[in-house]
Order: sequence, then structure tokens, then C-alpha cells
Amino acid sequence: MEPEVIRDKDSMRKWSRAMRSQGKTIGLVPTMGYLHEGHLSLVRQSLTLTDVTVVSIYVNPGQFSPTEDLSTYPSDFSGDLAKLAAISGGKVVVFNPKNLYDYGGETKKINDGGGGGGRVVSCVEEGGLGHETWIRVERLEKGLCGKSRPVFFRGVATIVTKLFNIVEPDVAVFGKKDYQQWRIIQRMVRDLDFGIEIVGSDIARERDGLAMSSRNVRLSDEERQRALSISRSLAMAKASVAEGKTSCAELKDMIIQQVVESAGRVDYVEIVDQETLEGVEEIKSGVVICVAAWFGTVRLIDNIEIDVSF
Ligand code: AMP
Repeated sequence: MEPEVIRDKDSMRKWSRAMRSQGKTIGLVPTMGYLHEGHLSLVRQSLTLTDVTVVSIYVNPGQFSPTEDLSTYPSDFSGDLAKLAAISGGKVVVFNPKNLYDYGGETKKINDGGGGGGRVVSCVEEGGLGHETWIRVERLEKGLCGKSRPVFFRGVATIVTKLFNIVEPDVAVFGKKDYQQWRIIQRMVRDLDFGIEIVGSDIARERDGLAMSSRNVRLSDEERQRALSISRSLAMAKASVAEGKTSCAELKDMIIQQVVESAGRVDYVEIVDQETLEGVEEIKSGVVICVAAWFGTVRLIDNIEIDVSF
């Protein structure tokens, strides 16, 4: 049976509170839709941890800059519902709001740069919406994807806060595919005392190793083949560490070389501490190797955790 769809935030909050009053625990899986097995694995995990799970499907304009791919972000709402209908093991509802930045009333055009007076804006400011409150996780948001996408994590932290306030979940499940995002949300929840448990879920991959992503559909067959250089080089780097290679410069060079040889345009390859996300030169404790690279017009990210005990 297809899941119930809730379209507005007041009904969503009412539903959650009704569940809570029946003694049920609530899980939340925030998504931007065009669901794939990666998203579904988060939903299954949430269902093992809580009585009912809310899957939000909302493409958040607050995390896209006006030059990014908001308008071409793929969607297939009926397909998403069918995939969720096939999941067993507990009750799922879908929260699919129209615009979480529209507060009704007269909308004054505000386009002053946002983000504390900087010049960068998201599609929220561009749309002239009156929203002006943003959450920033100041240090963790700066590196990795934050360098080339300066409004991205402010948009993510803000929309996740809004979803937390609307859904009031006990547990929220995020994919480690977006490693920096997961760490930022964990830190935000700690720093702002949200009473919500944040769970990080392993990366779901295609059979050939490509990390699942809604954006993969925009790769041509040839680009998709070439994009395998990301997951392949990450796996090789992990194997090299197991064989004793600990120099991050050498490991990063190896990955960059493989991606470039496959005609990928590297945004970054970084080896960082798993918690602080600060760069390391020599692997001595747990790290994560993070890659972002363009194939054609599609920017892909992937990572691999390396736990070591030297
Ligand atoms: P998105 O719809 O891309 O915003 O992703 C929604 C959630 O699904 C985020 O927590 C992502 O990290 C997670 N996710 C996306 N792709 C994967 C994947 N391949 N494996 C695990 N989680 C994923």
C-alpha cells in the first residue's frame, strides 16, 4: 500500500504529536526525492529503530546557489511512492511540502546577499522570499564541499532544523555518502541540544561500485563508466593503507591521477580526520578519504572510511 502523503507543516506536526501521544517513537529520513536503494536503506534502518518513519521529500532551494542545478534536479514522485510502498517492516509516511520558506502574507523582495552580508546567495534569497534565519556550523562547514559550495551547508543545517521542528522525531537517519553533511548535523544537534539521535548509515553502491546518487541518472553511459574511477581509486587507496602506505600526499596523488586519466575534473581529494574533518598528512588514526569530481556536467561525491590501529 502506498504511504500516506502529508503536504503541509501543520498537519505534519499534528500527525507526529498524535503518534507521540500513542507512545510511538518517530524516525525521520530527510531526502530530496528521486529515491534509490541508498535512500531506501536509510528508511529500512529507521524502521528498525523506531515505530514509524517519516520520509521527507523536498528539494531545498536554501542549499542551492542560483548557478547550481536546482531547476534540473531529477524528480519522480509517483515512482518514489511506489518504492516506499514496497518496503515492509513498519509504517512510513511521506512529508512533501510545497515551499518551506513561504510564510504567507506579502512577500517583500529581499536579495541582499544573505549569509551575514556576503555576496553569495541561495535560491531562497533569489526567489525574494522573506526568510532570513540561517544555521551555520562554522568550522565543519568550511572545508571539503563547503569550499566550492559556500551556501550549501548553511542551507542543509537550516532545512534539517526546520524539519526537526516540524516532525519532532526521536531519531534521524543520514547517509555517510554525504559524510560532511552527516558530521555537521551531528555537531549541530550536540551544540544546540536537539533531543534527537543522529544515525549515520553506510553508503549504498551499485554492483560495479558507483555510489548511488539521484544525480547518476544525468550521466551518459560513457561518463558513468568513467566515473567508476572514483570508487575504484578509493578502494585502491584503502588497500594501500592496509599494506602500510600512510603518506596522504601519495594516496591523494594516486586518486587524482586515476580520476584525471578517466577525464574527470577533480574538485577536491582530501584525507581528513573522521570527526574534525581536518586534513591529515600521515594516517595514524581513523580518517575518511573524500572525493568530489565532475564528469560532464554532473558533480559526484564519494568517500571511504579508513579505521586504523597502528
Ligand atoms: P538526498 O536526497 O541526496 O539529499 O539524500 C538524502 C539522504 O540519503 C542523505 O542522508 C544522503 O546522505 C542519503 N544518501 C544518498 N545517497 C546515498 C547512498 N548511496 N548511500 C547511503 N545514503 C545515501
